[in-house]
Formats: sequence, structure tokens, C-alpha cells
Amino acid sequence: MTVRVRIAPSPTGNLHIGTARTAVFNWLYARHEGGQFILRVEDTDEERSRAEFTDNILSGLRWLGMDWDEGPFFQSQRLDLYRQAIQTLLDKGLAYRAYDTPEELEAMREAQKAKNQAPRYDNRHRDLTPDQQAAFEAEGRPAVIRFKIDDSRTITWSDMVRGPVTWQASDLGGDMVVARASSASTIGQPLYNLAVVVDDIDMAITHVIRGEDHIANTAKQILLYEALGATVPAFAHTPLILNQTGQKLSKRDGVTSISDFQKMGFVAPALANYMTLLGWSAPDAAEQFTLDEAAKQFSFDRVNKAGAKFDWDKLDWLNSQYLHAMEPATLLELALPYLQEAGYAVDAEADHRWLLPMVAMLAPSLTRLTDVVEQSRFFFTESVGFTDDAKAQVQLEGVSPVLEAVLDGLTAQSPATIDDLKALVNDVTKAQGVKKGLVMKSLRAALMGALQGPDLMESWLILRQRGFDIPRLKEALTLS
Ligand code: GLU
Repeated sequence: MTVRVRIAPSPTGNLHIGTARTAVFNWLYARHEGGQFILRVEDTDEERSRAEFTDNILSGLRWLGMDWDEGPFFQSQRLDLYRQAIQTLLDKGLAYRAYDTPEELEAMREAQKAKNQAPRYDNRHRDLTPDQQAAFEAEGRPAVIRFKIDDSRTITWSDMVRGPVTWQASDLGGDMVVARASSASTIGQPLYNLAVVVDDIDMAITHVIRGEDHIANTAKQILLYEALGATVPAFAHTPLILNQTGQKLSKRDGVTSISDFQKMGFVAPALANYMTLLGWSAPDAAEQFTLDEAAKQFSFDRVNKAGAKFDWDKLDWLNSQYLHAMEPATLLELALPYLQEAGYAVDAEADHRWLLPMVAMLAPSLTRLTDVVEQSRFFFTESVGFTDDAKAQVQLEGVSPVLEAVLDGLTAQSPATIDDLKALVNDVTKAQGVKKGLVMKSLRAALMGALQGPDLMESWLILRQRGFDIPRLKEALTLS
């Protein structure tokens, strides 16, 4: 048997972290088993589905490195197939038209509430006589189509994550609507549970891997598989992603979509890596790996039942590992959009000469790509101002002559390499008869406007290539 799995996002929002993590587990399983990973866009909800969300979802999956073998298929283009299946259910007497008005349904629910009963459809139109049916039709009442649920059934399956799961059909809320209301003899808009089952049968899906919020749907769907005479696939319900306080991760936690994480400066391999750890652990306890490496070791035996806590520190740590190990050229390419977004004037081609050493220098101190923006700020403007302690440093007695000597040296020697700059520092130290530490600290204060920051000599060379070092030294001298 070839494993065939799918990710079936609804384009009612951007690619959600929960959907992306479900996609990761599907992808890992497909690749581990040498199977197929299928992409299906569940866009039957016309009001809430939007093309821009579909674009966001597809590009998010691609960005994370999850290639699909078939699709994208769009449910909105497959409505006939669902209607045929509904017709089959009607023909077999497994589904029927129900003519209840919204007011009648509401009254039914109120009565149930008054008796402290859980809300459910009481199946009152299940056995209408042809005359009753004709009377409703004559009234012009639209009808939904309901699939009969046998309340005496117990539904069980062996979940690949949760082990044996049992549901009482009587807990499923009564006969379920599979098509929205429509007028006589037509079939209205097919609904989620029906469309999913029809597609999973049609696409020969062998394993349905999705979030545990779908467990009750699974019980309903198993009944539909049986009614349509199809083999029931295997199911794996993956744990929820929780925030630090143990609640389901939501918009309130700041970010929920993959594009948000992207904007925050996470790189795709780190985020994909982190998502594999949201509920799964590698047999060798490794934490840093590519999706391909994870796929080699992936199995549902090591997927937890308990919710997976989202750990920002771990994600940051992983992201920093990827950034630190990255080729400068790749890092530059990834960082450029953030620099441009921040309004820095960069011309990738013309500035390559100094941008490349700049990102290489900053790489070890980066956690997120957005850090490049903050840490490189002072390479983008001629004047950056001075922190109080930098100002105090350049105002120290004896510092002005040092900075003037450096300025003279720059004009006389035109240093062009780090070694040249070091030689200049040594010359000035000797000639001024001061400690080298004083020269270095004063240069840092003057050139960078702060006493902390990246490597002084490397930064100086970049500022030099930008033509910023002489103006900054001159500016510092005006403070004293
Ligand atoms: N469209 C459903 C969702 O986004 C898919 C559920 C499923 O995988 O069956 O939650």
C-alpha cells in the first residue's frame, strides 16, 4: 500500500501555525513512508474563503520547504462530486430532506435547554410521509439534507497518536446536515464533513492526519465512509499547540500565521525544524535537523498525546543556530528585504562589497533576521549621534589629540585593510604615548557613537568603505 496523506487547509485566513504543523507531520510521514503528500484547498465556504489566503497558504507551505506531489485541488471545483455522493445517500435511504425552519430549530433548542439537555437535532423529519413532505414542498420551504446517524452505534478507531478512541453516536448531535438548505429536489451547498469524506475517498487517502480539534468530525466521517461503502482510512490526531499558560495558541499570543513568523525574522528551516518538535521528538533526542533528516526518523510512536507548549526561547535559539551557520551571501539575501523594509537605502549590487562583510560580522550575534536592522543601523547613515558614555569618552582629557592623530593618519596613509588600520592604531598609540586600550575605546566611541557593538576594526573598515569614518571622527572632535 502506498501511503497517501493530505493537508486540507481552508482559505479563510493566512497559513496558521497549527495547519502548518499538521502539514509538517503529514509531509514527514509521507516522506518517511515513500508516499504521496496531497494538497487540497477546502474553499467551500464562499463567504469566508479568499484567493489571497490561498496564495498565502501555498506560498507559506513552499517557503517552509513542503513540496506536494499532487494538487492543489480546490473543493469549489468539485461540488458535483459531492452532490452525487449526497444523491447516493438519498437513494439508499441513508439521508433525507429536513424542512425545519430556523425558528422551529431554535424552539427545539430552547426546549432542550429548559430540560438541561445537550442541544441536538431530534430527527423529527427523518420519517416524514410522502404527504407531509409534499405539504412542506407546497409551502415552498427549503430543505437541508441530513445524514442519518444511528444513535445506538458506538464508533471506535485505533488512533495512531491517541490509541483506541470510542465515541457514542448519540453524542454526535443527531442526524447531521450534509448540504445546506435549497428548494425542492435540488441539493444545496455540500458541507465540510461530507466533502472531506468524498475527497478522501476519491483521492485514495490512506491516513488522515489532522489536529485533535477534529476528533468529533472523525466519528461522523467514519459513519459516512461506511454509508458510501468505502474503506475507512487510518487516523492520527495531532496535539494542540498551547501557549505558555497552557491555553490553545491564539491570535492573542501575538502571532498565529506563518507569514507573521516570517515578518518577525524567523528563517524557514528554523521554523520548520521547530514545528517538528511541537509534539514529536527524535529517537536520538536531536533537536536541530532539516525536514529531510526528520523524515528519516519520523514515526507516530513518538508523537505526544499531550498539547505541545510553544516555546519562544527554543524557537529563538534554533533560529540563531541557523543564522550563525549561514553562508554570508545567503544571509545577506535573506536580510535585504528587512533592511529595505526598514527604509535603509541599499543597492544590493553596488553595496555588495561592504554589505557582505557587514552581515558576516553581525551573524554571530543575530537571533532573528530583524536584528540585522537594529545592529546595522549605524552603517547606513553618516551620523548616528552619541550615547552619553560615548560622548563622555571622547571628551576625556587627552582623547582629542588621539583622534586628531588618527585623522591625520587616515589622510596620510589611506589604510584599506584591517591590517592597515591596526598598524595605524599602533602608530598613534606609540606616538601619543598612551595606552592602546584608550585609543581603541575612544575610536569605538567616535566611530560608532557607543561603547558597545560589533568588532571595532571590521566595523571601521566598513565605515571606511562607506566614506563615513572621517566625518564621524570630525563630528566626535566637535564634542570636546
Ligand atoms: N479544512 C479543514 C481545516 O482546515 C481540514 C480538516 C481535515 O484535515 O480534514 O481544519
